[in-house]
Amino acid sequence: MRVRFAPSPTGHLHVGNARTALFNYLMARGSGGTFILRIEDTDVERSTRESESAILEDLRWMGLRWDEGPDVGGPHGPYRQSERLGLYHEHAAKLLDAGLAYRCFCPPAQLEADRQAALAAGRPPKYRGTCRSVTPAEARARIAAGERAVVRFRVPDDRHVLFADLVRGPVAFHTSVIGDPVLLRSDGHPAYNFAVVVDDALMRVTHVVRGEDHISNTPRQILLYEALGFAPPAFAHLALVMGPDHTPLSKRHGATSVAEFRAKGYLPEALVNYLALIGWSPGGDQELLPVEELAKRFAIDAVGHSAGIFDEEKLAWVDRHYLRAADPARIARLSLAYFEREGLARDAGDAAVEYLASVLPMATASVDRVDEIPSRLGFLFAFDPVRAVALPEVAEVLAHDGARDVVERLARELSGAPRLVDRERFRAVVGSVKQATGQKAKGLFHPIRVALTGLAGGPELDQAVPAIDRGAELPAAAGLAPILGCRERAAAFAAALRSR
Ligand code: GLU
Repeated sequence: MRVRFAPSPTGHLHVGNARTALFNYLMARGSGGTFILRIEDTDVERSTRESESAILEDLRWMGLRWDEGPDVGGPHGPYRQSERLGLYHEHAAKLLDAGLAYRCFCPPAQLEADRQAALAAGRPPKYRGTCRSVTPAEARARIAAGERAVVRFRVPDDRHVLFADLVRGPVAFHTSVIGDPVLLRSDGHPAYNFAVVVDDALMRVTHVVRGEDHISNTPRQILLYEALGFAPPAFAHLALVMGPDHTPLSKRHGATSVAEFRAKGYLPEALVNYLALIGWSPGGDQELLPVEELAKRFAIDAVGHSAGIFDEEKLAWVDRHYLRAADPARIARLSLAYFEREGLARDAGDAAVEYLASVLPMATASVDRVDEIPSRLGFLFAFDPVRAVALPEVAEVLAHDGARDVVERLARELSGAPRLVDRERFRAVVGSVKQATGQKAKGLFHPIRVALTGLAGGPELDQAVPAIDRGAELPAAAGLAPILGCRERAAAFAAALRSR
């Protein structure tokens, strides 16, 4: 099996196209086949190298490695259409010689007027066929005289074109609705329908899996395969990915590109797993599966033909799963960009990564995405006792009998005490405060929490306190914003309380 993903480098990689790439990838990996990446950059005005690199980067980020492509080469290259112009000309010449294509001299303004007239009359626009009768000799003479021409394919009259779409089932078109498509433009660049057939044939593609927006191109392409003497591949057209309102997923719905979801902090394995679930189910009772497992189970004919809805809440749910399953050091490293964004990290090194990895469980238990981690761990970096004592929920804790006593006692116990770098040391201090004040349960823990974190809620103190004091021992060179230790926090909090 040989499949391909053929993006046009005219913008970002939309998640709908990323899903098409993924399905091709799953087919190739599941069957021991070949996954080809081909860049369709024949629209010279809109194609850019920046867009091409960004698309490659997004595909790599998703982990979708290709076996043949513009960067890795392969036996059927080049893999950029702009570098294959000679091949298109060679095949166009064959069709011209066989009378299966002809040169068309219709002025663009005339074609546009015809198009507008058809639309106004409620008819689908279709080339009238004016130049079908221009003989090759006449065409040569007109070109020699300086006229510009395109090459058009002569669509056979009165034919039914049938194909068995692997997703949608049997599809039929009659050639009476198909105008003669342009193969080569007057500037020598090929049109999509022609380039795609020449390339898929020469690259020995066996299965064309692409968006449903190309279904009406397929009969033209099948006729071109026939005219060129190539056997057509199997076709599968995937329903478009829709927004929650059942219209095609677009900017109006928010993020649409892989780059945007990546920047939002989603993990690649989560996006990949989630995209596979749009319109397809791996069966069994488990849908959260690594890509190798998805590939083993994937079957293109099991993909649904109705439109899939992109549901970001479900994506977040999938992401949460992978966030918790991932190696904490990897997540810590990924989270650095977001700590930097908040001004909490700069040139962070291994010590910072190691530290963040150790405190991550406090955050990952309650976040959907990596970018939310800094705010969950904000209490480590931001401690402002004067502001804290003024917070209504903190004031409420402190209003309880004995609460101030607990704070004072805590400050005293901690002054001169070693850092509470583990749970045991913290528990010993709690034990002393308890004994000295006679407070227990909420009456004991709530004041301790507000004094050490400045907040009335947050992660378990057993985790938070050692995290604070281990952070306080980090050298400045680690690259994280300074973390104030529990001893200093308790003293400052007690002072703020006294002066209120
Ligand atoms: N370049 C086309 C697109 O991005 C590819 C269509 C196809 O796969 O044939 O829509």
